[in-house]
Amino acid sequence: MESLNLESMKNSFKTVVDKREKILKEPKTLELEKKVQKIRKKSIKYNDKLIEMAKESFTRNGIDFFYADDDDKAIDILDEILSNLDWDKLIAKSKSNTLREIGFNEYFTKKGFDIVDTDLGDRILQLKEVDNLPSHPTGPACHLNRYDIADIVNNSLNTNISAEPSEIMECVKEDVFNRLSNAKIGVSGANSIAAEDGSIILIHNEGNISLVSMMNLHIVVAGIDKLVETIEDGLAISKLETIYATGSLLTSYINIISGPSKTADIEKKLLKNMYGPERVVLILVDNGRKKIMESIPSSLECIGCGSCILTCPVYGSIGNEFGYKNYLGGRGVAMANYIENSKISFDCGLFKCTLCKQCTVSCPLDIPTFDLIEKTRKTAQKENHSPKNQKKILENIKNNGSPYNL
Ligand code: SF4
Repeated sequence: MESLNLESMKNSFKTVVDKREKILKEPKTLELEKKVQKIRKKSIKYNDKLIEMAKESFTRNGIDFFYADDDDKAIDILDEILSNLDWDKLIAKSKSNTLREIGFNEYFTKKGFDIVDTDLGDRILQLKEVDNLPSHPTGPACHLNRYDIADIVNNSLNTNISAEPSEIMECVKEDVFNRLSNAKIGVSGANSIAAEDGSIILIHNEGNISLVSMMNLHIVVAGIDKLVETIEDGLAISKLETIYATGSLLTSYINIISGPSKTADIEKKLLKNMYGPERVVLILVDNGRKKIMESIPSSLECIGCGSCILTCPVYGSIGNEFGYKNYLGGRGVAMANYIENSKISFDCGLFKCTLCKQCTVSCPLDIPTFDLIEKTRKTAQKENHSPKNQKKILENIKNNGSPYNL
């Protein structure tokens, strides 16, 4: 990441760290942390059971349930659904790590779909076209300052706005609304999936997810690690995530979706598609997560607050080059080994981590990222992916009994 972008990112991180300082020490927050730790541990431990439970409850609620072993299968399911529609090839999308992981935008853009990201930060990155990795899970464009953003918007939308934040926001909002005027397809991720209730929990500040979830068809794509037992569990996670990610107590919106839009207000006859979608689809994606659950299960306890990267010295020095796709920082680097392979994990910065444990200290779930990194390094070394100097040092020890070139 360029030094000016790093500077903007670190300023944004400092704002969050300062804002949340007091609230993190409050007894209520500490209590919530303990509660969420238990919820996440249980959810990962009994994940298989939750998948079965979800299949039953979502089907009962009238939500189409699909399971994808890997990214190809997830794309196939989406392709099957989207290619058979007789609507404009226009998709309103909201933030989702899983959609980026499976290459949703790339695949369906090639198939002629116009995919419009509705989250302001994501939309700015989408308009940027190149070098557009996010730098924080809830503030994807926080490495860009207002002048960079105004330039991106002007170049892409052929406008002439100033670098005034409200002017930028209005301009992007108007463009998104214009583009989506005929959209009937909404695609999103999920913050939690409540298996017992058959509900999808989504949190947001902008109101964009409400927009996406009101299209005729709403497709939710989420990793199996998003499963929890109940809506209450999902809400506890959402509250803690908000506190750690933003320093606020709650987001402006919490959407809980438990079925398509319906009414029985005329002679108790059931009619679908009143204001919201006539069809809701949930696609749960494994894509290496079961393997992660067997090897480094704690990495999947993550609630996506991004706290680990705020204090990571490596992330602070090189930014989002340290991470795997949307999975930023050391945890993402370790996960890359299981979602892809040890070569990708190596390329994402496996040996850049200092093992300082700052990420664990900042994590509300105490996820031992340093430990995950060490485990992954062992695998990478066995598969011959380690820094050249390290290999030389090992050879020296073997041949000379010393790390030095004697
Ligand atoms: S242990 Fe590694 S990933 Fe964690 S904060 Fe330190 S350098 Fe970053």
